[in-house]
Amino acid sequence: MRENQLKNLNESFRILAERRVEITEDPRIKELKETVKSIRENSIKNLERLLEKVGESFEDNDIEFYIAKNAKKANKIIYDIVKDERIIAKSKSNTLSEINMAKFLEKKGLKVIETDLGDRIIQLTDDRPIHPTAPALHFNMQEIADVITEKLKVKVKANPKDIMETIKADVLNKLENVKVGVTGANAVAADDGSIVMVHNEGNIGLISLKDTHIIVFGIEKLVSTLEEAISVAKLETAYATGSRVPSYISVVSGPSKTADIQKILLKNMYGAHRVVAIALDNGRSKAPPECLWCIGCGTCITSCPVYNIVGYDFGYKGYLGGRGVAFTNFIEGEKASFDAGIYMCTLCSRCTTTCPLEIPIADIIEKVRCQVQTAGYKLDPHENIRKNIKETGTPFR
Ligand code: SF4
Ligand code: SF4
Repeated sequence: MRENQLKNLNESFRILAERRVEITEDPRIKELKETVKSIRENSIKNLERLLEKVGESFEDNDIEFYIAKNAKKANKIIYDIVKDERIIAKSKSNTLSEINMAKFLEKKGLKVIETDLGDRIIQLTDDRPIHPTAPALHFNMQEIADVITEKLKVKVKANPKDIMETIKADVLNKLENVKVGVTGANAVAADDGSIVMVHNEGNIGLISLKDTHIIVFGIEKLVSTLEEAISVAKLETAYATGSRVPSYISVVSGPSKTADIQKILLKNMYGAHRVVAIALDNGRSKAPPECLWCIGCGTCITSCPVYNIVGYDFGYKGYLGGRGVAFTNFIEGEKASFDAGIYMCTLCSRCTTTCPLEIPIADIIEKVRCQVQTAGYKLDPHENIRKNIKETGTPFR
């Protein structure tokens, strides 16, 4: 990352941390944190049962359901649905970044429009997200204005309002003829067959009004009830943004329908008439349970000393920081985890003290390092130390 980008990043992280302090000290949030900890532990323990149950509930709710073992299968399911489209809309989602959906569809000749402001900026700059819920924090206003002028051929002043209005107008214009939207999910209630999505911009509301709404989520997003799913969404918001609640919590429990005429059920009112849910495994079944408790709030990366110095070079796609590089091992293998910086971590555990789920990230990293080492991905200085010990009985020459 460039020096000025790191400066922007550090400043944004500082503001976020200050905003978060007050809310995380609130007794109601403290209580919510304990509730969500037990929800996540129980859900991951019962993942197989929840996966079976959500299939039944989705069927009752008229939601098409697929389980994708890996990224290739998930992309194939999506492509089979969208292959006759020209443009599709997309919201922010680590799971969609994980499977590289946008690149996959673009190779097949489709255009994918990011609808979140931050993600649209990242799409225009051709860069990588820096934070799971605030992906473009490392760009300053002038840089954003310049890229808009270059890519959208619109002169825009370097102030937040003008930037927002310009991108909004462009996205809305492109969305006019779009029939399919793809989103991720923050939590999925297996007993109710309901999918919970958090957003502040209202873009998921727009997407769910398209003819077809495809929702892709990692199997670890499953919980039992809608109440549990809302609790997860609220805690994620508090830690990710420092706000008590997001502007919107969208719940999708089936296609758009009405029974307002003599109680006769009609489908296809304003919202999507086809809702498709895809649960992605992609190595999650092999990951340690604690690694799957994560609610994606990003607090660990804002507090990580290494991330604050190297930025997204300590991470893989949308999975950033220590938890991200450890998780990468399960979704993409040892080499990807090595390249993502599994050895960069200092094992200081600052992330665990700030994580609302108290995930023991340093412990997970140590175990993943053993796997990475065994698979043959080693650092030269470590190898030198090993050789020295073998040859001289001391790490030092
Ligand atoms: S243990 Fe590793 S990932 Fe966690 S804060 Fe320290 S350096 Fe960052
Ligand atoms: S590991 Fe913890 S702090 Fe980091 S994103 Fe997940 S829940 Fe949030």
